[in-house]
Amino acid sequence: MKITDVKVLITCPGRNYVLLKIETDQPGLYGWGDATLNGRELAVAAALRDHIAPLLIGRDPGRIEDTWQYLFRGTYWRGGPVLMTALAAVDLALWDIKGKVAGLPVYSLLGGPTRASAMAYRHCDGRDAQEIADNIRAAQALGFKAFRAQVDVPSTSSFPNTTWVDRTTYSQPFEDAPYLRAIPALFEYLRQELGDEPLILHDVHERLTPIQASQLAGALEAYHPLFLEDPIRPEHKESLRLVRQNSRVPLAMGELFNHRWECLPLITEQLIDYVRVDIAHIGGISEARKIAVMAEAYHIQMAFHGPPDVAPITHAANVHVDMAIPNFGVQESSIFPVEIEDVFTGGPWLENGHLHVSDAPGLGTDVDEQAAARYPYHPTEYLPTLRRADGSVQDW
Ligand SMILES: [Mg+2]
Repeated sequence: MKITDVKVLITCPGRNYVLLKIETDQPGLYGWGDATLNGRELAVAAALRDHIAPLLIGRDPGRIEDTWQYLFRGTYWRGGPVLMTALAAVDLALWDIKGKVAGLPVYSLLGGPTRASAMAYRHCDGRDAQEIADNIRAAQALGFKAFRAQVDVPSTSSFPNTTWVDRTTYSQPFEDAPYLRAIPALFEYLRQELGDEPLILHDVHERLTPIQASQLAGALEAYHPLFLEDPIRPEHKESLRLVRQNSRVPLAMGELFNHRWECLPLITEQLIDYVRVDIAHIGGISEARKIAVMAEAYHIQMAFHGPPDVAPITHAANVHVDMAIPNFGVQESSIFPVEIEDVFTGGPWLENGHLHVSDAPGLGTDVDEQAAARYPYHPTEYLPTLRRADGSVQDW
């Protein structure tokens, strides 16, 4: 069997998505991958169209590992979010094809199910603690057991001079001191209102210094969060040692990582409790599974990134891996724009707070290409930039 064509589609059914379709010489046999890198979509599309697609034509789609090694190690320049997102898209499409050839869902090819479904957590963000508690109660009524709590910290600043603000993005203010007061107060309120049972986590989005992260983790200990996510910036991961030494709050990290070696010190030193890598940015199912195996050896669980800025194809891949690995922790779930259903079919579905995938061959997702064409790329779909009161850049 041979790969005969590789197509890149860009569509915006409420969010920008870059999709990869790998076609074969078998009539009707193709696979879909997700090549979406939020805010840098066209860079991945160009990498695939101009550099990677020509390398795939004529290759055997069944040789997933060899293709992964060929694209990662065989082309000299490697790694980084653009190339690893492109590689993930190829990897997902090839697993999709392999499942269709075998007539089996991908979780079956990964060793078969170890569980019936993947426990999901729901974003229950709010303007204040009361709104978050209400959102958690509403999610509990739907069957959710796990929740992410993000609160608006009352604005401590406004821009002294908006004339030089980067107009290709929009900015939001951030100050660390009120943030560090607001999150423990939020958790105190949520535990008073909701009791000890709800599994509640908070995402720091890499915004704190190591000592600030240590203070926050220590302050949250009494409220036993499920985990504290991405407490520090990803560039100097060894700083997590300080956070670890100063609290017993479970830690999660990894959505900005691009390969297994970034996870390695956090795993082997047991500095985290959940690996949060994004299957769409870490090189796909093949790489995610290897990371899960390494984490399993150190009693660390997987909690794959599941934001609405990756396509339902990645969300399906998440759940297929969740279903197969023994060290699954929890799966982030997202609410998509309604237009998404015009373009994608067969993605995972929620039932009683758990994500399910069908036993359809491959990843089980498909794309209506004509519908996708009705939603052209939207070039200003950028995430906001955070700035401090003095105008300086703050980590997103
Ligand atoms: Mg996050």
